[in-house]
Amino acid sequence: MLTATQTFLDYAKLEELSGLSAPSFAQVEKILAKAKRLKGITTEEAALLLAVQDPAQLSLLLAAAHYIKEEIYGKRLVLFAPLYTGNFCTNDCLYCGFRRSNHSLERKRLTMDEIAQQTSELLKQGHKRILIISGEAGNQSLEYTLEAIQTSYSVREDTARVRRINVEIAPLSVEGFRALKKANIGTYVCFQETYNPELYAMYHPDGPKADYRNRLYVMDRAMEGGIDDVGIGALFGLGNYRYEVLAILEHAHHLEAAFGCGPHTVSVPRIEPAKGAPLSFNPPAPVSDIDFKKLIAVIRISLPYTGIILSTRESPALRKEIFAYGVSQISAGSKTDPGGYSAHKEDNGQFSVGDNRTLEEVISDLIDDGYIPSFCTGCYRRGRVGADFMDLAKPGLIKEFCLPNGLVSFAEYLYDYASPPTRQKGLALIEAMKTTAPAKVAHVLDKALLDTASGERDIYL
Ligand code: SF4
Repeated sequence: MLTATQTFLDYAKLEELSGLSAPSFAQVEKILAKAKRLKGITTEEAALLLAVQDPAQLSLLLAAAHYIKEEIYGKRLVLFAPLYTGNFCTNDCLYCGFRRSNHSLERKRLTMDEIAQQTSELLKQGHKRILIISGEAGNQSLEYTLEAIQTSYSVREDTARVRRINVEIAPLSVEGFRALKKANIGTYVCFQETYNPELYAMYHPDGPKADYRNRLYVMDRAMEGGIDDVGIGALFGLGNYRYEVLAILEHAHHLEAAFGCGPHTVSVPRIEPAKGAPLSFNPPAPVSDIDFKKLIAVIRISLPYTGIILSTRESPALRKEIFAYGVSQISAGSKTDPGGYSAHKEDNGQFSVGDNRTLEEVISDLIDDGYIPSFCTGCYRRGRVGADFMDLAKPGLIKEFCLPNGLVSFAEYLYDYASPPTRQKGLALIEAMKTTAPAKVAHVLDKALLDTASGERDIYL
């Protein structure tokens, strides 16, 4: 077994903190008062919040997370879609439909023509940000992924093109990350699944992914290789959720200490049923909806400037509620089988999707709830990434970019892809929300919206 001295995690501390008993009201109030100063809280304080059981304390906790989300992110929610390029995998993760011992899965690796076609399908829906994702296999090598990125970036659908490609593939060497960086990716994403080394060994019995340490240090290598934005996460349902959240926070603090910048995003997938992966139907440590809301709120409070990503694993009703507690990015209209955007095969995905709405249906519902769907890629394309992004975000300056860019990218979507009823209510929302933009950018925003209405595209600050 790995010990505390062998990695940046102190496992004994994680065990102890994840078993704390419920805090007093006074303790909760004190921690939340500190949290509202938007500078985060310590791992020990987060551990106390995760121990909250009392409904009244939980309400206070969710309200604080909502306050922080509104202060920093306002009403924006960034939208993206995954593009699965291949479901071959040499690993045997017990919860995943792509596991190598799932012989019922129809294996597929997209050709470059198929990747171009899938990209076109996503562009036709209105997507501008995609996540290229695949299993770990020799025929889905780094070279293949680099070609897939280049192919996807090169696709044009009228004047539209993908503006940011994030990548979720198996851990690479520093050299491999240098190559990914050259390919102009946005965020490199990789989840530890479980930070508990013993559980990790149990649920990843075979293949390269069985190497816990290699995965734990992947973001160190990514940052060393020049990747500015990294996305971490755990798969909830494998181990004690309190332990996993605390480990995520410690991982973030480790990256901040080592590289001057924590993760760009944290993802919070919960295990969903996947055909051919019996464990996924009966997760060993299921997380209830209430605990799920709580853990998202604790991450928002602890890492106020780190994006939180919620996928389509969750149902529309739960997603709607959870947006309020700190989520800043969501996938929409997702298919998790390679080729699924043109010929979807229900049982060929990595997991079952809980939110099957189309992108426009998601956007229509977001508008009804007062959220601004954003396709913004401005920071990444202006070089506001990594530590530079955090330097702007922490004093609140990012608001001068995010709201205008979000509104303009949303207006583009409404003019180019939305049905008339969605366009009408979306434009009304933009009119209402633009009054909340900082005064110094009001004029620029007005002009950008007018230019977008006249047909100019891809305007961003
Ligand atoms: S989780 Fe990833 S590595 Fe594991 S079997 Fe699925 S695709 Fe392969």
